[in-house]
Amino acid sequence: MSVSDQPSTGFDCVMHFTLPDRNARGRAVRLGPVLDTILAAHSYPAPVKHLLAQALAITALLGTLLKDKEGQLTLQAQTQDGVIDLLVCDYRNGELRGYVRHDRARLDELGPNPSLFSLFGDGYLAITFDLGSTGERYQGVVPLEGESLAEACEQYFLQSEQIPTLIRVAVQHGPDGCTAGALLLQHLPDGEEGRERLHVQLDHPEWEHVSILAGSISEEELLDPALDLESMVWRLFHEEREVRVHSGRVLTRGCRCTVDHYRDILSRFAASERAEMEDENGQILVDCSFCSRQFAIEID
Ligand SMILES: [Zn+2]
Repeated sequence: MSVSDQPSTGFDCVMHFTLPDRNARGRAVRLGPVLDTILAAHSYPAPVKHLLAQALAITALLGTLLKDKEGQLTLQAQTQDGVIDLLVCDYRNGELRGYVRHDRARLDELGPNPSLFSLFGDGYLAITFDLGSTGERYQGVVPLEGESLAEACEQYFLQSEQIPTLIRVAVQHGPDGCTAGALLLQHLPDGEEGRERLHVQLDHPEWEHVSILAGSISEEELLDPALDLESMVWRLFHEEREVRVHSGRVLTRGCRCTVDHYRDILSRFAASERAEMEDENGQILVDCSFCSRQFAIEID
């Protein structure tokens, strides 16, 4: 095992690794305080918290695949008439945020462990990569199918990008808060930088071998704070000739909602349109769904 840079070990970090002989790259993440901070902005019932925690862990994995520092990854699950009609998470430059819109009364009828289908019905999952430096945008949409969000994301990569992908996520709710651990492994036969993709070819022996190793990870291992991310990856792939571990990305909870941001957006509306939005005090009230905060904006 060769180690370059400083591997990350603690919570709220994403660790990068590659298996050069197997043309595979990976990400591993553990979320702790950042997850609690995001969840604390809302009073979500347990199943919604659980789903959002999973989605945030996946968003951190996918977001750190972006090489563009100013790029943004958005994960959005949506449906017309589901108990949850919208889940949005995004990642930009180490910052994570997310929220869920749901029907509380209908959710309560589902019991403590609702399936993905019972929450979303016939929903879809959209994953968007915005490249900040060039303004390019890639979006793929797949049906929200399978047992979990992780499975739906695996399908996204297979169908939209022809990249065989394995994603495992575990979430734990304890008295001291919520933690999440997640692992991603992808097969890139032309290397990490390659643009050409493998055609859908699931019987590739190299990929089969490493995906079985990665798939053997348990929920306990994903969540165990005594097992740092580097040791976790090493445990999975210790028989491989080379595992390269790269420096981790520290995650923070971030949002772009400021008075200036909303003033800028509102100033692009015509004065007559703004007048219709104003309350009796001449202010426009704007909500940030990510933070559950309200801003009163005045435009001279
Ligand atoms: Zn906000």
